[in-house]
This record gives sequence, structure tokens and C-alpha cells, in this order.
Amino acid sequence: MVDMRNHYEYEVGHFENAIEIPSDTFREQLPMAVKMLDDKREKNIIMYCTGGIRCEKASAYMLYKGFKNVFHLEGGIINYVNSVKEKNLENKFHGKNFVFDQRLGEKVTDEIISKCHQCGKPADTHVNCANDACHLLFIQCDECKENYESCCSKECQDIIHLPPEEQKKLRAGVDKGRNVFNKSKARMSRISKN
Ligand SMILES: [Zn+2]
Ligand SMILES: [Zn+2]
Repeated sequence: MVDMRNHYEYEVGHFENAIEIPSDTFREQLPMAVKMLDDKREKNIIMYCTGGIRCEKASAYMLYKGFKNVFHLEGGIINYVNSVKEKNLENKFHGKNFVFDQRLGEKVTDEIISKCHQCGKPADTHVNCANDACHLLFIQCDECKENYESCCSKECQDIIHLPPEEQKKLRAGVDKGRNVFNKSKARMSRISKN
């Protein structure tokens, strides 16, 4: 099983023993997948993503690159979870399925497989830093949410208490890229929206 989603999606929920391809963009992810799976060319490879579109493209790419037995999960995790519920099958997806809605994900099982990025306690709730100039996407537990007032750091917390005019000044010049806490590379990274 190969997870073709972003690292922050994998982090809160994935299939048992799924391989993560730790890339910031889908474009980089495809060649990275070829490299990482090079010794598995003769094996059965199942690629999956949230809704099935990304993994369909990815599996076509892998076949083009000479892999023999590549499949994709039709309809993605969303369809899988529905089928499991409908047909009462054994569920192999653990944790939360990350989706871009207001809840930033839906619990598939009650397990929490990820940790708060600030204190390390089990947590699986993604938030965007309350400082608009930062807007970092990261995992925060309820306690840290309260202590940091939904901010990613003490610095951002200080900024949200500045007068709006000052905050506006600080925001000027900041590019519109989306900030994501990149655990797989253990650094803060800025990725663009495409
Ligand atoms: Zn915490
Ligand atoms: Zn922040």
C-alpha cells in the first residue's frame, strides 16, 4: 500500500503498513515514488489517496515507468470507508481521514496515531495558526490550543495581541504560500497551493 497524499494527511490516519512518500508537492512525489519503490517493481503495489483521482494518475505513471502490478483504490479512502461500513468489512484504515473542510478530517477509528506538534501528547486535530501572517497548518491538542490561543508559537501569540494596524504592517511582504509543518523533513516548510 502506498499513500499518495501529503505528509500531514498521512500523519493523522493511514492504512496499515502503508508506505509514505514524503514530498511537499504531487509533482515531486511521483519521481520520488519511483525511486522509493524501485526494489518492488515485481510486487503488487496499491496506491491510494483521499478521493481516488491522485492515485489513479500516480498508478498510470508507475505503469508507464515500467512497474508491473500497480493498482489504485477506486474512489479513494472516502469510498473505502463507506464500503467498509455498508458491507460490514474489516477496516484496515487507522485514525482520521484528513479532508479540507471545516473539521479538517473525519475519524475513521477512535485511535489517535499522531501527536501534538507542541507538547507531544496524542492529538489529531489540525489547526491553522491564529496569526494570519503565519497561518501554519499544524496539529495542536486542546491544552496547547488554550495556552497558545490557537497559535503555533509564542512569537505568533505575541503578534495576535498587537493592534490590527501593526499586524497589517507585519503581514505586508509575506507571500501567500501555505505554511505547513513538515514533520517528515523535521522543519517548517512553505508550500505553494498548486
Ligand atoms: Zn499539546
Ligand atoms: Zn504561527
